[in-house]
Amino acid sequence: MSASPDTGEQERLILDAVDRFLERHVRPVAAKLEHADEYPAEIVERMKELGLFGAVIPAEYGGLGLRPSTYAKVIERISAEWMSLSGIVNSHLIMARIVDRMGTEAQKRAFLPRFATGELRGGLALTEPDCGTDLQAIRTTARREGDHYVVNGTKTWISNGIFGSCFALLVKTDPEAQPRHRGMSMLLAEKGPGFRVGRRLEKLGYKGIDSAELVFEDYRVPADRLLGGEGQGMACAISGLELGRVNVAARGVGVAQRALDEAVRYAQQRRTFGRPIHEHQAIALKLADMATRVEAARLLTEKAAQALDRGDRCDYEAGMAKLFATEAAVENSLEAMRIHGGYGYSKEFVVERLYRDAPLLVIGEGTNEIQRLVIAKRLIERNRI
Ligand SMILES: Cc1cc2nc3c(=O)[nH]c(=O)nc-3n(C[C@H](O)[C@H](O)[C@H](O)COP(=O)(O)OP(=O)(O)OC[C@H]3O[C@@H](n4cnc5c(N)ncnc54)[C@H](O)[C@@H]3O)c2cc1C
Repeated sequence: MSASPDTGEQERLILDAVDRFLERHVRPVAAKLEHADEYPAEIVERMKELGLFGAVIPAEYGGLGLRPSTYAKVIERISAEWMSLSGIVNSHLIMARIVDRMGTEAQKRAFLPRFATGELRGGLALTEPDCGTDLQAIRTTARREGDHYVVNGTKTWISNGIFGSCFALLVKTDPEAQPRHRGMSMLLAEKGPGFRVGRRLEKLGYKGIDSAELVFEDYRVPADRLLGGEGQGMACAISGLELGRVNVAARGVGVAQRALDEAVRYAQQRRTFGRPIHEHQAIALKLADMATRVEAARLLTEKAAQALDRGDRCDYEAGMAKLFATEAAVENSLEAMRIHGGYGYSKEFVVERLYRDAPLLVIGEGTNEIQRLVIAKRLIERNRI
């Protein structure tokens, strides 16, 4: 795909290209790779060719320059086919967005073109073994020594941790600072001496993509890899997670839609008591609720993505979209399984994968409990009496 900012026509071309890629290169192999928990190396090469690793990177730095709303549609399609692939792209693009939003011109020129081609891939390293939601409790430190930082600590659950080689790494440059966020900073950390993979983590679903523990032992990173200045770590994380939340909402829409599609098809094929099961009211009601959830989830996601397109503050909209769409994915995948009866529990049908993948969405990019708290906080701020 060519590198130019998207218009309506370009959006259509891009979505068509993504549909063809999914049909030719993902659909035939997704189930096999997923069940083997195998990294989709060949698919990743195709994703590079398509330019997906530069989807939202501005065209001047070699990316496709897609609007977040177009990107969300790409992610919805990918997730309907195989959700793990969306994680390979999205964690990487969160890192790229932080560089784009918070980096210096020199940092953008040094990194964004290589991120866009997929030559340098990676993700976001925030979570630690004893904290995820409460990020200000992180213990990974970066001590300034001349023109380097010396990093010590452990990150966990890091997507692309094994096959990726560059990470936006949240650290404490001043562990004593109060409030705690003032002592937090973000470094761009490329693998090298002192930076190793601790272990690969086994998961219920979201297979194929590598989730890993990353260990830093006197890892030296040049000081010019600091993003946004010391004390800007949380601001960096927040700027990346805005895109991340819209992306996770779009994944929810994709999974919920696929669950609906599978259920609609099966409900017409499977017959009990002399008729297709969709003619039993109990199944018809489930289908109606599933379809309604998908439509509502998509509309909320579009609204949040369009706010991001405009550059508006959108934690309220993105929080609602993430909350609703991911709960829709969980509910629809369970309902699809029930509609499939015993076959829903079989590895020969895709619904068991949807059922294993969906729960991650309510946890990642800020749990849904936290989304509710954010929504309520903004609600009061906007309606203070
Ligand atoms: C497959 C997978 C991939 C991941 N990829 C990445 C990645 O690439 N990079 C990365 O940095 N992290 C990643 N994560 C980590 C993920 O972001 C965290 O798991 C998530 O933020 C929750 O943190 P936690 O697991 O420490 O749960 P905790 O923070 O310990 O929360 C436990 C429970 O308490 C609730 N809770 C916590 N605080 C509050 C509160 N104040 N009010 C109400 N409820 C609260 C939570 O909602 C949750 O239900 C990944 C996780 C998984 C499972």
